[in-house]
Amino acid sequence: QDGRGRARFFKREMDQQAQERRQLELELRRALHATPEVFEVHYQPVIAVETRAPTGLEALLRWRHPERGFIPPAQFIPLAEEIGLIVALGELALRRACADAAGWAPGLRVAVNLSPIQFRDPRLVEMVAEALADSGLPAGRLELEITEGVLLHQTEATIATLHRLKDLGARIAMDDFGTGYSSLSYLRSFPFDKIKIDRAFVRDLGTSPDDAAIVSAVTGLCERLGMASTAEGVETEEQFRRLEAERCTEVQGYLFSRPVPSSEVPRVLSTLSSA
Ligand code: C2E
Ligand code: CA
Ligand code: CA
Repeated sequence: QDGRGRARFFKREMDQQAQERRQLELELRRALHATPEVFEVHYQPVIAVETRAPTGLEALLRWRHPERGFIPPAQFIPLAEEIGLIVALGELALRRACADAAGWAPGLRVAVNLSPIQFRDPRLVEMVAEALADSGLPAGRLELEITEGVLLHQTEATIATLHRLKDLGARIAMDDFGTGYSSLSYLRSFPFDKIKIDRAFVRDLGTSPDDAAIVSAVTGLCERLGMASTAEGVETEEQFRRLEAERCTEVQGYLFSRPVPSSEVPRVLSTLSSA
């Protein structure tokens, strides 16, 4: 009545949330150490707009929890970043992705997400080189996706690391372009091979002239700077047609395929190739 009951109620909720977080943290540590196979890498095809054929697949982590089922990355990656586990988890994802991709048709690339935290690890470049060597995947078939977060506190060391990754032969893509603290100067600080246009700009492409203008500007920029452009979250034929008209080079989204487990990749690829 005097409001203190509500305060107590919120306090209880916050305690509960903090406890759940600690529990998840404990389970994450334990799983990574004892049962790393519960972390699965799923793959979503990337489609060339011109031919509608797959050019590669993006590796996306999932946690198959024994009681809670699949836990999406949005629920455990930020946590893994906070507690430093993303370095080991990121290595696991990269190694699996390279090993899986080595078994695909030679024309297909694999795209792997790198967390900004991984850039603080002095062994990053060495680790990537090792994953390539151990899997036998040619470096040119690996694409590393970084977010604007990597360049937010841009240092010479970060740029040097990006150049070393590129010198290995890997391609570098800027992910989630336009959603963070974007700055066009990022595009001058490093020669990206590709920009990925976030789903937020694709969703209302048919109805929002503003979003259409932004997409058009970004694809135009990519074309003039010699970069590929990939639109994410393409769910409808209408979105696809508009992206095609804007000369976007690649798309990804449920219109073509959801992310699938490694075992289903051959089936999905053959359906897409014969479509
Ligand atoms: P992201 O890199 O932007 O990945 C794209 C997300 O969009 C994926 O979510 C994918 O499943 C989803 N998506 C793809 N097509 C569509 C569509 O047509 N409609 C809708 N509604 N969604 C679509 P997911 O797999 O839940 O991953 C979420 C985020 O988690 C990723 O966003 C990425 O930032 C992060 N993540 C996933 N795997 C890794 C990893 O191995 N390392 C790191 N550092 N981050 C990862
Ligand atoms: Ca990505
Ligand atoms: Ca993205």
